[in-house]
Amino acid sequence: MDLNAQNADAHRDERSRFTDSLTGLGNRWRLTDKIARLVDERAQDPAPFTVGIMNIDGFKPINDLFGHAAGDEILCQIAHRLKNCLPAGATCARLEGDEFGFLLPLVFDQDSATKLGKVLAEVLSAPYDLGERNVRLSSSFGFSIYPFAGEDNNTLMESADTALYRSKRRGRNQITVYSEEIAEQIKRGTLIEQALRRAINSDEVEVHFQPIVNLSTKMPVGFEALARWTDRELGFVPPDIFIPLAEERGFIDQLTEVLLRKASKVAQTWPEGMFLSFNLSSAQLVDPTTASSIIAILGKAGIDTRAVEMEITETAIMSDPEIANKIMNELRDARIGISLDDFGTGQSSLGRLRDFAFDKVKIDRAFVNEITTDKPTEHIVKAILAMCQGLDLAAVAEGIETEEQAEMLNDMGCGYGQGYFFGRPINAKDTCAYLESLGVLPRGTTIAFPY
Ligand code: C2E
Ligand code: CA
Ligand code: CA
Repeated sequence: MDLNAQNADAHRDERSRFTDSLTGLGNRWRLTDKIARLVDERAQDPAPFTVGIMNIDGFKPINDLFGHAAGDEILCQIAHRLKNCLPAGATCARLEGDEFGFLLPLVFDQDSATKLGKVLAEVLSAPYDLGERNVRLSSSFGFSIYPFAGEDNNTLMESADTALYRSKRRGRNQITVYSEEIAEQIKRGTLIEQALRRAINSDEVEVHFQPIVNLSTKMPVGFEALARWTDRELGFVPPDIFIPLAEERGFIDQLTEVLLRKASKVAQTWPEGMFLSFNLSSAQLVDPTTASSIIAILGKAGIDTRAVEMEITETAIMSDPEIANKIMNELRDARIGISLDDFGTGQSSLGRLRDFAFDKVKIDRAFVNEITTDKPTEHIVKAILAMCQGLDLAAVAEGIETEEQAEMLNDMGCGYGQGYFFGRPINAKDTCAYLESLGVLPRGTTIAFPY
């Protein structure tokens, strides 16, 4: 082989190392190489530039529904559209699966990045032609701007990825540019994370209990366990801040273990027949070991599993319906009840009620809030209740704050209710006093609290 041919071969090898064979775009190495070069250039003249990552929303089911060839065809059409509408001088690469990256040397600020994201999202939302059928897809974007969001290619890609993650968390079709505010939130998140890890280790996270009552007798039938945590320095941190944080940062299992252990010890002091309802987090519904660890915790605590229910949201099920279904079946086999939490918000689907075996539906507080003032809401709740009746599911209305709401729901045939009107979440000791005041526990009963 002569030298020229050898050179040509080497050149081809070099090219293919940097090329995505499916779409013909550059790959991750091409993009990061280009970013690194631009960072070098800009070291002398620190003018901003932008890095972006785009991910197609809900792409996975496409492969499952239409086959891999169709998935590949869509990825090629996406690559083609992106190539044709990116500004001059831009680089576009396929990073992996349905994720694409951009280097935009002439996009200098947040507004321009957002504007470009909108244009790309619009272009990508047009139907994809699969011969016999058309498919529509939306896309999410994350952008990071040099040098604020990073001074090297790794940090810039990480910041764009963080921004993309935020977009995904806000729902479909979102665009996020890594900002001062996000940087601040991450810093605070890290502070909370450190304090929470410490609190878990020193057993400082607590559980409170909110009564769930029978709407016709107004007597409690069980309690929902709600996590409570007050840090010495950060003060009270609400669970809808620290639970998602523990999920995101990978220690929700430890947190759940502490909470479930404490909750089941308390629940054993309640009269027989009264149940404990415990929230399962979305991160746990994608982990196939969840059911066995829950069953193990309950076993160790010595609680009768028939007195335990797990609350699960639809959004959580949707991340991986197959694993979620497996977890739910294992829980049911262990005679643990399953409630569908926050019903009516998020991606409610009636099909889900049929395909997944629930025992209870918890109607979200958003409906209960307006039930006495808004006719359409009243009709929706009536329809939900009729459906529950048909499917033999118990219904719990959440967030009942007034007597009027409680009466109306009772008249509509809703079996159970929960909300400030019946009782706020209270600590273990106060649940005992509450039960005693209702005559459910004999007066003078002394309960040895486990902590
Ligand atoms: P959720 O599961 O929907 O819990 C009900 C929330 O509504 C609780 O908020 C409760 O205090 C509040 N609430 C109850 N009645 C009323 C009412 O009448 N009016 C109003 N405005 N609010 C009412 P909380 O305790 O702040 O918990 C927020 C969310 O955090 C929970 O929503 C749940 O998603 C999550 N969470 C709480 N504890 C845990 C836990 O131990 N594990 C997991 N995975 N998530 C938890
Ligand atoms: Ca709940
Ligand atoms: Ca709820």
